[in-house]
Amino acid sequence: MTEDRINNEERDEEAPVRRSGSRRRSYRPRSKVCAFCVDHVKHIDYKDVETLRRYLTDRGKIKPRRQTGTCAKHQRKLAVAIKRARHLALLPFAAEHVRRYG
Ligand SMILES: [Zn+2]
Repeated sequence: MTEDRINNEERDEEAPVRRSGSRRRSYRPRSKVCAFCVDHVKHIDYKDVETLRRYLTDRGKIKPRRQTGTCAKHQRKLAVAIKRARHLALLPFAAEHVRRYG
């Protein structure tokens, strides 16, 4: 009987501590602005590999908008540009290590 009471007390004490300790929301990224809108880019050049590469993950996939902050309009153009660049073998379809080991 006494053991039960001790366990309950412990549980009650732990709960609020855990709640305040797991507040991992402290990192809030600033509202991102589309890099292409800032530069007033109208057409994204598929030959500009350096720029396009920034919008690929390490696996060669196109990064999502929520990660890069690109607006919908430019994300569409970016996707087309990346696909064109891939077709011309300027950019990879898959990262090298993925290609090698599957
Ligand atoms: Zn934009």
